[in-house]
Amino acid sequence: MSDCLFCKIINGEIPSTLIYEDEKVIAFKDISPQSPVHFLVIPKEHIESADFIDKNKVPLIGHIFYVASKIAKEQGLECGYRVVNNCGNHGGQTVNHIHFHVLGGRQMMWPPG
Ligand code: C5P
Repeated sequence: MSDCLFCKIINGEIPSTLIYEDEKVIAFKDISPQSPVHFLVIPKEHIESADFIDKNKVPLIGHIFYVASKIAKEQGLECGYRVVNNCGNHGGQTVNHIHFHVLGGRQMMWPPG
């Protein structure tokens, strides 16, 4: 989608610190990290939010979790990490291209704010 920030990152129009890429997804470091390790895993296909995951997208979402855990291991998060998806306004979503935050390197708290 032409006016989507994350589509522009995928297309290389906006710079990012890329840490992983395959035919379906990319992962890059969050520009405003909330923990010592904070990266985002996003599909190359534009999907607005978790509300737009239809049945044929289910394997893609599974792949995203597979990639998230693979990178988490590579980043040394052996003590654990958190995967977060913010959906919609009340969920705190600010970029309308589905993305999964992977946060680690410190103790996470619960409940989130
Ligand atoms: O879940 P939410 O939509 O709020 O997350 C968007 C995330 O995208 C933020 O954590 C923000 O720091 C990140 N971001 C980024 N690079 C940009 C713009 C936003 O990593 N160029």
